[in-house]
Amino acid sequence: MKAEVNLFHERFLGSLSRASIDAAMRKVAIGLALFLALLGGWVFQQLQPPKSARTAADDFVLTDVTVIEPTLSRDPKATLRVVNGRIQRGSERIGGAMAFPDLSHTYVLPGLVDMHAHLPPDTPLKLSGYYSLLFLAHGVTTIRDAGDPDGTAVPAAREGIEDGEFAGPRIVSCGPFVAGAEPRRWPNTEIVDEPQDAERIASALVQAGHSCIKAYEDLSVEKIEALKAAAARHGLRVIGHVPSQLSYEEALIPDVQHFFGVPRAESLKRDHVLNRIADWQDVDDARLELIVQTTLEHGIINTPTLVSSHRLLLYRDYEAAKNDRAVVLLPRIFPDVVWNPVSGIPYWKEIGDFLPSLEEALTKKLDLVVRLYHAGAKVQLGTDTQQPFVVPGASLQEEMLLFVQAGIPLEEVWAMATWKQGQTLMPDLGRLTDGAPADLLVFREDPTQSLEALGTLVAVVARGKLYLRDEVDRTVERYRTHFRGGLVDKISLPIARRKVKQSVLRDY
Ligand SMILES: [Zn+2]
Repeated sequence: MKAEVNLFHERFLGSLSRASIDAAMRKVAIGLALFLALLGGWVFQQLQPPKSARTAADDFVLTDVTVIEPTLSRDPKATLRVVNGRIQRGSERIGGAMAFPDLSHTYVLPGLVDMHAHLPPDTPLKLSGYYSLLFLAHGVTTIRDAGDPDGTAVPAAREGIEDGEFAGPRIVSCGPFVAGAEPRRWPNTEIVDEPQDAERIASALVQAGHSCIKAYEDLSVEKIEALKAAAARHGLRVIGHVPSQLSYEEALIPDVQHFFGVPRAESLKRDHVLNRIADWQDVDDARLELIVQTTLEHGIINTPTLVSSHRLLLYRDYEAAKNDRAVVLLPRIFPDVVWNPVSGIPYWKEIGDFLPSLEEALTKKLDLVVRLYHAGAKVQLGTDTQQPFVVPGASLQEEMLLFVQAGIPLEEVWAMATWKQGQTLMPDLGRLTDGAPADLLVFREDPTQSLEALGTLVAVVARGKLYLRDEVDRTVERYRTHFRGGLVDKISLPIARRKVKQSVLRDY
């Protein structure tokens, strides 16, 4: 080898002077450095998420529109102005505002509220901007984040939206999960070792800007009571799981998620998430009636997240599920890797065995929703985004459809999904009255007549900013291409596969 190099030197370089060799080497080095810099720049640029949707206006007027506050009022040929993020009704103050004649002869409704969502953690993939936009693209202008698994998800989205880095909904958050004992199922979990810890936890949540306590697993009745008392002192709401060791009527969680606890604790065949969703075999008429009575007696609110059960049924045909029209919006790491029933995270491995009981349970859940509604109990629409095939925004529309299928009149479902749950989060949120926060949806057709009109959305107003549908769609497409094509896809898939293999998530 050495001899060959020497020969090369003799033959080709021998005649060259030392100085010209140095100059040539310098050129090569500079060229190489330039190439690497360009390559680095290209890679860096490829990894950056696209720019978010542009706002069309934040001081504007809609004229000759039908303003609908579901079940409250319907005002045809109305004028509605938005200024400084607030709604102004009446025609006398329209001067100076940007007009959108294309948006005349439309139907204006309040934005949708998802009462149980989870934002994505702030990873190098940078999903916050895209997920925030997906909520808006489907008309969801407020979300209640029901637990931030690592503590990065809510700050990343909130800061991005508030700094104008990307478009997104209002975020009301619970922050960490609050559990009664180790082990922590999520890194961002506060433990109530003793009931008196509740005070410290509630106070810290308020300090951090959260509005609810996510009561989670392993809490005793005594600890739940302590959390409720501390929450009342600090103006927080307690939402959460009925812990698997307790039943609905024992835990008395003020805002129960997923109908956990409806099957008695002893009727769960195992303490596993799939059993908790699907083991409804012992839930009969008498049990449903007892749940309704307990709910009324204690003023319990329910957020059943029916769509998260409904979407699990897509596992009947996993290959088709990956091509579902909402699922194809997501980066492939979720459908292809994380939710893969064979090689994904352990939760869903036995899903095949659970499908028949899951379907039966869902029928009973729909029955319970309509019983609660007829009894006058409060039922809220939430989705549990981040669960398999539960896509931000799209899933709230599906939850609405499930409520309608359960037997609740469509306009009532609109009232629930907008002002009824909105007002519990912020004064006048979801109302279209003078001075109310400006979160609006503009439709070509009246969506209180048919949910098919959801597809005729032409503009979304979120936090007072107007986004036109075309711009939102184009931006969604840019994000989709970014996450599903090219370098990000190529890099993220193998990393996700490795991470899932080493996953510390235990099999609950
Ligand atoms: Zn959840």
